[in-house]
Amino acid sequence: MTRVLSLFTPSGHPTLGNLLGALRPSARLLRTADCVYGISDLHALTGGHDPARLRERSLELAGLAIAAGIDPSRCVLFPQSNVPAHAELSYLLESTAHYGEMQRMIQFKEKSARQDTVRLSLLTYPALMAADILLYQATEVPVGADQAQHVELTRDLAERFNRLYGPVFTPPRAVHPPAAARVMDLADPTSKMSKSVDSPGTILLLDPVDAVRRKIMRAVTDSGSSVSYDPEGKPGVSNLLAILSACTDVPVAELSYDSYGTLKKDTADAVIALLEPLQRRYASLAADPASLQAVLRAGAERARALADPTLAAAKRAMGLLAA
Ligand code: ATP
Ligand code: MG
Repeated sequence: MTRVLSLFTPSGHPTLGNLLGALRPSARLLRTADCVYGISDLHALTGGHDPARLRERSLELAGLAIAAGIDPSRCVLFPQSNVPAHAELSYLLESTAHYGEMQRMIQFKEKSARQDTVRLSLLTYPALMAADILLYQATEVPVGADQAQHVELTRDLAERFNRLYGPVFTPPRAVHPPAAARVMDLADPTSKMSKSVDSPGTILLLDPVDAVRRKIMRAVTDSGSSVSYDPEGKPGVSNLLAILSACTDVPVAELSYDSYGTLKKDTADAVIALLEPLQRRYASLAADPASLQAVLRAGAERARALADPTLAAAKRAMGLLAA
């Protein structure tokens, strides 16, 4: 059976981009694959963070993941920091990776350019992400397009490790959703919508629905008035078409509009139709944080049982444990 792994980072309040690019596609894979999903709290340490807020956001993200359909009775759902093998394998992979290839990562370049002081973990985090994936011998990683380069690096590290020390890891591949693999900021459709960027064009999953409608109705569109899918020439309109397609499961090619106004209205309706039930499910989960914590503790125990044998195999292969 296909083994799927994806992690979601509590670095801010989750956005519509996270839902369409990662959470929903990950939930759909529960039907056909053996899935391991994590809350990557260690990845949230790569930028400035507040300890109390990190705990709150980790729990919020776990609740939102479950509300988006990631049913913990049908997968392993765990907090990354509760499984020590992640940090340990990350170091072994840092010792397999090269400084130059880490520096070449687009996310490192983009994020480090926005910061005065850059944490070293921002540079090395792709090694931790590779550890996340390789510990579970995942074959598929459902992610938005922005993470494709990190999954490629994971493949390279797995292949290099296997070549140097023997066959331990399964090289994975990234899988992207058919639409909305890269949801753009509604106020600046040339930038990716991101939970760590404060922008009036970001839709948060817990935004009140009237705010969602307002943000979509105010979305920046393009010059001219024809509605056509052309991400280069018409990024604003193309973003709305991609969002509408992802929410309704109607392929972009089958969406036909003759005005920006009706496209915006239908997009707002479709997003709200998705968010309203999700927000209701989230509210009932958030009302009982102790149960949510118990679900995560049980998930961590199952994750440790899956991850520890892979870590031991890697340590044996590197000469750190007796064969
Ligand atoms: P950050 O700004 O902290 O990097 P983010 O919004 O980019 O936050 P991540 O935690 O980095 O979110 O990514 C979680 C998942 O959501 C990944 O699979 C990523 O590819 C996907 N994702 C993130 N942003 C988008 C987007 N705008 N469109 C589609 N998928 C996205
Ligand atoms: Mg990101």
